[in-house]
Amino acid sequence: MKKQQESIFCKKCLYSTSHPLGLVLDSNGICTGCRVHEEKYELDWKYRFEILKKITKEYKSKNQKNYDCIIPVSGGAESYWVVHVVKNLLGLNPLLVTYNKYYNTDIGIWNLANLRIKFDCDILFQNVDPRKVKKITKQTFREFGSLYWHCIAGQTNFPVQTAIDFKVPLIIWGGHQGVEQVGMFSHLHEVEMSRRYRKDHDIMSIEADNLLSGESTLNEDDIWQYRYPEDHDLNKIGVRGIYLSNFLPWDPKVQDEKMIKQYNFRTTKLSRTFDTYEHVDCFNYMNVHDLLKLNKHGFSKVTDHACREIRHKRITRIDAEKLVKHYEQKEIEYSDIFLEWLGIDKTVFTFLLDRHKNNKYWELLDWDTKEWKFKGLSYLRRPKKETFNNKTINLIEKKNKFISTHKYRNDKNYITIGRGYP
Ligand SMILES: [Zn+2]
Repeated sequence: MKKQQESIFCKKCLYSTSHPLGLVLDSNGICTGCRVHEEKYELDWKYRFEILKKITKEYKSKNQKNYDCIIPVSGGAESYWVVHVVKNLLGLNPLLVTYNKYYNTDIGIWNLANLRIKFDCDILFQNVDPRKVKKITKQTFREFGSLYWHCIAGQTNFPVQTAIDFKVPLIIWGGHQGVEQVGMFSHLHEVEMSRRYRKDHDIMSIEADNLLSGESTLNEDDIWQYRYPEDHDLNKIGVRGIYLSNFLPWDPKVQDEKMIKQYNFRTTKLSRTFDTYEHVDCFNYMNVHDLLKLNKHGFSKVTDHACREIRHKRITRIDAEKLVKHYEQKEIEYSDIFLEWLGIDKTVFTFLLDRHKNNKYWELLDWDTKEWKFKGLSYLRRPKKETFNNKTINLIEKKNKFISTHKYRNDKNYITIGRGYP
């Protein structure tokens, strides 16, 4: 058998050279993500904010007859921060756009409504026919182990299409994942939204048209809304998408807590991570989707959260490791709602989850009982699970507290907005 490429870990955070976005270690064993993070303490952020002001000023609508920019939003925490910066600090009049991902929680819908009211902004919803969304999701779940393809493809496409339709060329995004997680670019590169990055990293190299090939049950009519606009149309309007994280020292925890305080952004405790701010608007992101991430990549979202907190110097590497080991194997929640929504049974669901287990990180111990052994990335690091307990976890979480303001009131079905069910 061919020997799997070895994962070498960063000496500072918990990421390794197996990170799917790509990551490099320097001669001191520190990863590019950690190195680029250090820029947050080194760059002149006042100056960088002036650059942002200058860029955005040029897009201010003359005679107030149109919006100044577009902001893609969800019922998650980052949306509040971006709208706050754009509206209050940059003085722009944004059009908010949101792609209805259908896996909506009541907290997410409340957050979205509250966002629109508190900031007094217009908002556009894209509600793709749910029958199409389900057809697409059945296929991407089966073939690529992804129930999030339509969400990502929709969230990265709808704002761009709206920019063209409304002739509002500037799109303002929040954090750039490639910069934040693995230091793919320096903040100084001021990297902007691109068709290439979207394809390679956001949508796993699967363009809408790729879904039509092979044994697909989809047709043209099912996928056209996920097709990225042509260069010709983008260039005609001069569409560009910038990331605020290149111009402000990006710190999600601090930003989100300001939003809780100032605008009553609602948060909740999720079962598979300690971060109570991100993805509270979705039943699946931190559950089925997170388990699929673990199956495929050998680590889950709690590792991302832990790395971020290490870099911001709020937890130690050893405590971060304990948090990861505590949360990573927790049971997923709300899969029953997903099965009902998608119309598949539990056997198929379990079969598909197992099918996407990467044999680099999972070993099938017993074919009949389907007992698996996890040998993912945290398994290769210390400490072993036996060296800590729930009390240890509580103490770590007390030292670096994440506020949980609410519980889901409805956990029986997705909250429908817009077109909802046919
Ligand atoms: Zn690192």
